[in-house]
Amino acid sequence: MAILPNRLTAEQYEQNFSDVHPPFESREAALVEANRCLFCYDAPCIKSCPTSINIPKFIKQITTDNVKGSAHTIFDANIMGGGCSKVCPVEKLCEGSCVFNLLDEPPIPIAKLQRYSTEKAIEQKWPLFQRKPSTGKKVAVVGAGPAGLSCAHVLSREGVDVTIYEKESKGGGLMTYGIAAYKVTPQFCEDEVNFVTSLGGITIKYDQELGRTISLAELQTNYDAVYLGIGVGVARQLDILGEQLEGVEDAIRFIYDIREKGFPSVPVGDKVAVIGLGMTAIDAATQAKRLGAKEVTIVYRRTQAEMPSTEVELNLAKLDGCRIIWLASPKVVLGENGRVNQLVCNVMELGVPDTSGRRSPVETGQTITLDVDMVIKAAGQTPYEELVSKNQLTHWYGKIAINENGETNIPGVFAGGDCVNGGKEVVDAVQAGKDGAKSILNFIMSERVNG
Ligand code: SF4
Repeated sequence: MAILPNRLTAEQYEQNFSDVHPPFESREAALVEANRCLFCYDAPCIKSCPTSINIPKFIKQITTDNVKGSAHTIFDANIMGGGCSKVCPVEKLCEGSCVFNLLDEPPIPIAKLQRYSTEKAIEQKWPLFQRKPSTGKKVAVVGAGPAGLSCAHVLSREGVDVTIYEKESKGGGLMTYGIAAYKVTPQFCEDEVNFVTSLGGITIKYDQELGRTISLAELQTNYDAVYLGIGVGVARQLDILGEQLEGVEDAIRFIYDIREKGFPSVPVGDKVAVIGLGMTAIDAATQAKRLGAKEVTIVYRRTQAEMPSTEVELNLAKLDGCRIIWLASPKVVLGENGRVNQLVCNVMELGVPDTSGRRSPVETGQTITLDVDMVIKAAGQTPYEELVSKNQLTHWYGKIAINENGETNIPGVFAGGDCVNGGKEVVDAVQAGKDGAKSILNFIMSERVNG
């Protein structure tokens, strides 16, 4: 067993990482699906979209070949609507609530139709929005992820000048660095960020990290308000023996490397265990397999009924040949010469429900041992607790506390997205950014700032 890069040919990498949800092959194919929509009154699909995109309206616009109008409808509600059409778990959101499900018929492929319009708009660089006259106000946004970009776009449309401070060398946040490459390509992410900023009035300063190159106090002094969209940090530690052995990796780092370094440069084991069963775990497991791992086993401490990922995602992992072991929790990582070679797991059973409402896993006293040469930890991410504490922000285990206006305990400092909720979908972060922008507008246009 060994962890090796460059396991496949260029053609195999290309095939393995090609678009998992390909677009419509033709305009006619899109129109056929768009014309199936019933344009429901009080449409349930809108209610299931966290950004409340007017779905029947944009689909109707497609049926009349008004693709530009359709793209405007989508982006007006969700400026990251292009990326969301590729990464949203639509089976539990808009498509999951489409009335066709009640008729036992396939739901309208809303994501694919959304992609049809938004991809064209981004490719053609359509200038769909215009800025209002300048308000003379300026806002600093920390983090160029979905929350930060969405907040910046709303503010800029209202005539506010926005400067985004981003710690990485590219924008897009989780979209650019934390999602499987077969769902959304690096090129698309770059194009999407450029599309958002093409409105004008938004400057992104890269390689700028809060607490390192910039301070909150400095931003408060230089801007009328600050929005924190800093996301969440590293993968949650397992806190078990052997976790420091070579071959034990963070899923976030693994996915980041795939996106930053390119497929052949990322080493992967022969026998890989992935801990956890959220979207990140699935993205790590499927990509390990697609990089050439011979065996990938996902270890999850509960059952399918409690898993955080959707059934569609789970089936994707199964189709890629990943094995799932339910009711198993890592106990110790064993190694030889400093390198991992086995993962011992406690066999669990379900006990009483915990605070999440899901039944808690309880050890049975039995164990199972897996021969592995790589362990990928994907049991959630932890918020930046130290950073928020140092900045005197009130928080709950690192999650920044905000009031009903999205404002933190520090007047004029707002926050939203994963750094507040601990990690949700991209589309939730987009909505959080919109909400934050609305509150910031109220704040900077009120007497609190004008004196
Ligand atoms: Fe169309 Fe389905 Fe939405 Fe009804 S629920 S408007 S059929 S997409």
